[in-house]
Amino acid sequence: MEPSEFRRHGHALVDWIAEYLSGAERYPVLSRVSPGDVRNGLPTSAPEHGESFDAIFADFERVLVPALTHWNHPGFLAYFASSASAPGVLAEFLAAARNQQAMLWRTSPASTELEEVSLGWLRQLMGLPDAFEGVIYDTASISSLHALAAAREAAVPAVRNDGLAGRADLPGLSVYCSEHAHSSIDKAVILLGLGHRALRHVPADDQFRMRVDALQDAIAKDRAANLIPVAVVATAGTTSTTSVDPIREIADVCRRESIWLHVDASYAGVTAILPEYRVHFDGWEHADSVVVNPHKWLFTPMDLSAFYCRRMDVVRQAFSLVPEYLRTAEGSRGVRNLMDTGIQLGRRFRSLKLWMVLRHFGAEGVREVLTEHIRLARLFAQWVDEDVEFERLAPVPFRVVCFRARPRAMAAASAAELDTFNEELLAAVNASGDVFLSHTQLNGVLTLRVAIGHLNTAERHVARAWQLLREHTEQLLSLHR
Ligand SMILES: *Cc1c(COP(=O)(O)O)cnc(C)c1O
Repeated sequence: MEPSEFRRHGHALVDWIAEYLSGAERYPVLSRVSPGDVRNGLPTSAPEHGESFDAIFADFERVLVPALTHWNHPGFLAYFASSASAPGVLAEFLAAARNQQAMLWRTSPASTELEEVSLGWLRQLMGLPDAFEGVIYDTASISSLHALAAAREAAVPAVRNDGLAGRADLPGLSVYCSEHAHSSIDKAVILLGLGHRALRHVPADDQFRMRVDALQDAIAKDRAANLIPVAVVATAGTTSTTSVDPIREIADVCRRESIWLHVDASYAGVTAILPEYRVHFDGWEHADSVVVNPHKWLFTPMDLSAFYCRRMDVVRQAFSLVPEYLRTAEGSRGVRNLMDTGIQLGRRFRSLKLWMVLRHFGAEGVREVLTEHIRLARLFAQWVDEDVEFERLAPVPFRVVCFRARPRAMAAASAAELDTFNEELLAAVNASGDVFLSHTQLNGVLTLRVAIGHLNTAERHVARAWQLLREHTEQLLSLHR
């Protein structure tokens, strides 16, 4: 592309993006295309001759934009929101242009050292001790995989060399997490060759927190059966309800038992930036590793997961492998080569967006947005609590509200009928295009979730969700009559 052409398209794109970032509400949150629409709208093979960017962009708007689910829509109240803030978008643009590949310090001193600096800032904001060294991975799933790989390295003699298969000298291994832990823990255990049945899903209490007595029982039972406990994963902000496991008590158990403690704070960890919320994370300073996702609640576009580890030497022991063609003189002079702290060799310049986002908002700006989201969640919870047609199904420690409709007119309805009613309600609300909610299951009950977390979500979006829920509840009841 000629430089003059790049300028023309670049300027037009910046205008398009500026319009989009401030006007995502023009679109229905949830895409309305049908499976196959995108595939059928595009040629089945690549063009033989290059095409103009105008033609390419026209197809982007015609075929792809209608098939976008708008994570940047302020009515996105499903799962856990992710915001592409303007400084984050600009950083991605720059990062693509600079195209850094920071496998070695020398292949990108800027990216390598900015990663250390920006993760250091975030660590301080959250009040984690300096003893935690940070590294950026793409997602929490990969961060937790590395945590459990390090735990396996620490617990299993010679695992790096001898592996696990066919070892007569090795008893079974076990990992512990709550029944509400994220499925990425299951996947990590599967991938690390421990076998899915090595994972103990410890029961939770009536507020969805891991029961420490049940954890201790599970460990004792495994020890009695000659198994090696490898790691405990405590979750600070579970996926369904954002409940927080009692980290300090779990840390005490891990210290007594010499078991690796990994804290999955992917979603809620950044809330530790609010001093009055630190109490939820009490004890995480004793963890061996912690994961926090700036791409969830820190206005950083997908993807950026911050992995902090007290024992990064063990991560290096597990993953460092330097072939001759990657040996450098600096390597022996104590610089960090990021390829040593993980499975991937090439890595992109992710720290740039974290650094730009933190500078743009400042700690104060971040605290303001988080505080407002928590206020909105409390407000929504209050609306639910005050309405006899609805019931709340979990405490609200952060900004997710779990609830369902339970109309008085359905007092005699079976559990299955109430589930079906709520499923229909969810579908009707989501079909509006104004908001997007998701669901989970708690104690066997279909549960609706409102998760506030997009940078631009304001009271009117949450109020609109509530209005739609009430209107569609009435409509559905009149249909059923
Ligand atoms: C979102 C989430 C994950 C997975 O995050 P990815 O970055 O998408 O892999 C894991 N654990 C918890 C508690 C989460 O909230």
